[in-house]
Amino acid sequence: MNKQREEFQAKIISITKHAHHFIRVECEPLTKKIEKEFIGGYIKFLNKESDDIVARTLSIADINSSGHFLIDIVDHKNNGPAQTFFQKSIINQEFTYYGPGEKAHVHTDKIQYFFIGDYTAFPAIYAQIKRLENKKINLLLIGEENSIEYFKGIENLNIKVVKDIGDDHLQDMAKEFNIVQDFIWAAGERTFVNKVRSFLKKNYELTQLSKYLSSYWQNGLNQESHSKLKKEDQRV
Ligand SMILES: Cc1cc2nc3c(=O)[nH]c(=O)nc-3n(C[C@H](O)[C@H](O)[C@H](O)COP(=O)(O)OP(=O)(O)OC[C@H]3O[C@@H](n4cnc5c(N)ncnc54)[C@H](O)[C@@H]3O)c2cc1C
Repeated sequence: MNKQREEFQAKIISITKHAHHFIRVECEPLTKKIEKEFIGGYIKFLNKESDDIVARTLSIADINSSGHFLIDIVDHKNNGPAQTFFQKSIINQEFTYYGPGEKAHVHTDKIQYFFIGDYTAFPAIYAQIKRLENKKINLLLIGEENSIEYFKGIENLNIKVVKDIGDDHLQDMAKEFNIVQDFIWAAGERTFVNKVRSFLKKNYELTQLSKYLSSYWQNGLNQESHSKLKKEDQRV
């Protein structure tokens, strides 16, 4: 059953292609302002067309000087309510959302950061690394070679792009990772996040780790089915 939450309205100001794999949607919040502190946080887009409320989480990639928030939707070609809505959306169209929710907490006092993510996590990763100036940042991106484009303009990143994540990538990372001084962040498709989860569990004292792991979606499952599994994973 859905919790009772306050709903807000936003209006679509522009829709552009962004960094090969995304559509960037600029949205004007109509009912309440969204403060800059929510960059890297999220909204829950509500599909009002079905009888049950269907909610889809999307990161707030940025907030521009007009106070409009930007969301970057992965052009994933599967028919989900969020994908369908934003692919067909037009300028001045309005939509309903819950939120905003806060970004994941990442300690800014660490020396080195390891971010692992697929396209769905790029907006959140981008927002996090913008806060981490003068830190050593390693990105392991799961996607096509050109995914690097999303992070254009941010300097001094150590970026590796892979099609799929294997134990060898995690072992390479582990060689440089220090559980006291460093932070690891992984989000995206559930099976890959769980690979990272098991690897860390096997190799480190979890309680000492500085980490954020979150499954954002699962291949072949809609968000309702994925959310049930996600809750189970977090209990482990
Ligand atoms: C905290 C958080 C932040 C997120 N931020 C973003 C964001 O900024 N941008 C973004 O695009 N997504 C983001 N996501 C992921 C997004 O919520 C899911 O991808 C969601 O399932 C999309 O909803 P849908 O209605 O399009 O598809 P659903 O109805 O959920 O699924 C329909 C079908 O599409 C497939 N599918 C769903 N997502 C993808 C995908 N990315 N690639 C390939 N197939 C897919 C499903 O496996 C299913 O088969 C975020 C998720 C979380 C939890």
